[in-house]
Amino acid sequence: MNTTEHNLKLYNSLKGQKEAFKPLHEGHVGMYVCGPTVYYDVHLGNCRTFVSFDIIYRYLQHIGYQVRYVRNITDVGHLTDDGEDRMAKGARVAQLEPMEVAQKYTVGFHDMMRIFNTLPPSIEPRATGHIPEQIQMVQDIIEHGYGYERNGSVYFNVRKFDRENPGAYGKLSGRVLDELLAESRDNLKSQDEKNDPADFAIWMKARPGDIMVWKSPWSVGFPGWHLECSAMSTKYLGQTFDIHGGGNDLKFPHHENEVAQNMGACGCAPANYWLHTNMLLLNSKKMSKSDGNFITPQDLFSGENDLMSKAYSPMVVKFFMLMAHYRSTLDLTDDGLLAAEKGYRKLMETNKLLQQLQPDARDFDGSESDTDRAILALIDEAYAGMDDDFNTAIALAALNEMGSYVHKLVNKQIDASEIAPWVIERLKTIFNLFITDIFGLRDEAGADNADGTVDGLMELILDIRKAAREQKDWPTSDKIRDGLAAVGIAVKDGKEGSSWTKN
Ligand code: AMP
Ligand code: ZN
Repeated sequence: MNTTEHNLKLYNSLKGQKEAFKPLHEGHVGMYVCGPTVYYDVHLGNCRTFVSFDIIYRYLQHIGYQVRYVRNITDVGHLTDDGEDRMAKGARVAQLEPMEVAQKYTVGFHDMMRIFNTLPPSIEPRATGHIPEQIQMVQDIIEHGYGYERNGSVYFNVRKFDRENPGAYGKLSGRVLDELLAESRDNLKSQDEKNDPADFAIWMKARPGDIMVWKSPWSVGFPGWHLECSAMSTKYLGQTFDIHGGGNDLKFPHHENEVAQNMGACGCAPANYWLHTNMLLLNSKKMSKSDGNFITPQDLFSGENDLMSKAYSPMVVKFFMLMAHYRSTLDLTDDGLLAAEKGYRKLMETNKLLQQLQPDARDFDGSESDTDRAILALIDEAYAGMDDDFNTAIALAALNEMGSYVHKLVNKQIDASEIAPWVIERLKTIFNLFITDIFGLRDEAGADNADGTVDGLMELILDIRKAAREQKDWPTSDKIRDGLAAVGIAVKDGKEGSSWTKN
C-alpha cells in the first residue's frame, strides 16, 4: 500500500487540533511511547493504552510506513507520592532484589501483550540500561543553563525555561505554569532544596536506605523519572522525531517535563506530534493502581471478580476497547462487555462465511450495481475512519455494514448477480486485513472449534452440571468444574447461568 493514498490526520495534543501527518523522512516514522513501570501486574487501563498504540503501529505499517516503534520499560526513578522509588518499594514489600521485581513484571507485561495479540515494539529500552545517557543529558542541561546542583541533587530550572521559551511549558496540557503548579502533587522531601517549587529533580542524591543507586559527577544517586524518556527517545529516534505517545494522565508533569528537558539539553523540541490516549474507567473513575480502583486482565478472563457477571475472553475485551475511539474515555461495564462479546462473535462468524463464498462469474450480469458501489463505499469508509486519527469505532461500524451484505448474500436476500466477483474478492481481502493485520483480532474459536464442536460439547457439559446443581449434587458439579479447569477451561457461575472461557 502507498502512504500517499492515505490522507492521514492525527490529533496533536501539542496544538490541540487535528493535523495532516507529515513524517520527517518520507516513508518512515519514529514513534516513542511511554511504557509501564514494572513494579506490579499491569491493570486493564494500562492495557488500553498499549493496545491503542499497537493499533496505531499496525495501521502506520499497513499503509506503507516503515516504523521504528520504541516503548520503554521504567525500572527506576518513578517515585510514589511519598517519594519512595516504586521499584524499590515493590522489592522491599516482596523481599526481592529490585531487578527481580522488574524481571517478574516485565515478563508478566510481555505475556499480557501477547495475550492481547499486540506486536512487540522495535526497541524496548530499560531506564536502568541507560544511566550514562541520562547523566550526559543532565550535563547538557546544566551547560545550557537550565540545571543547578543542590547538595548532590540536580534540579531543572522551570522558571528560567519558561521565561526564555515563552509558552513552551504547559503547551501540552494547555495550562500556564502557575496553574500547573497549583495541581502539582510533587511533595518530595527535597522540596526545600529547590530554588522554586516549579523546579523538578533530574538527578537525585541517594538517601540512606536507597538501593537503586549509581555514581554521577554530583553524587551517588539516581535519575529523575522524566529523564529516562528524554534520553532514550533521543538515543534511538534522534533529537526530533515524529510521534510521542502515552496516556493523557502523563501530560503533566511527565510529558511537560520531558519537553523541557529535551529543549533544555539540545534546544529542540522532541516530537512533532503528541498523541494521548484517554482513560479506561471503572465505576466511572479512572482505573488506577495507586487508588485501588482497578481490575487485572487475568481476573476479567477467569471471571474471578465481583464486578462482572461472567468471564470475558481476551479478544472480547480487546474488541470492547476497539468499539471506542482511543481519545474517548471508556467505562468498563458488564453491559459494554456483553455487547462486545456479541459484536466480536458476529464479526468472526461473518468473516468465516465471507471467506467461504465462492462467487461464480456466471452469476454476475457484468454491470456495476448499486450494491457493488455501496460495498466499495463502505471499504472507503473503514479506511477513512482509520485515516481520521485512527478511529476504530468508525472502521468497526463500516465492517459491520459490510457484514450485513455478506449475510444478505448468504441468505439469498441479494441475488449473486448483483455483486461483481472482483468486489467480493476485494471485500474478502479487506475484511480479513482489518480483522487480523490492523486490529490484531484472533479468532478464539480456532481450528478446534471451526465447526462449533467445542461450543456444542460445552453446552452439553454445562447442562449436565446445571442438572447436578439443581439436585444439589455438589460433588458432580465440582468434578465437572475442576476437570474443565485442568484442561484450561474456566467456568463462572452467575445469575444468568454458567458461562465458560478458555484460558
Ligand atoms: P504506568 O505503568 O503507571 O507508568 O502506566 C503505563 C501507561 O498506562 C501510561 O501510558 C499511562 O498513561 C497508562 N494508563 C494508566 N492508567 C490508565 C487508564 N486507566 N486508562 C488508560 N491508560 C492508563
Ligand atoms: Zn515517559
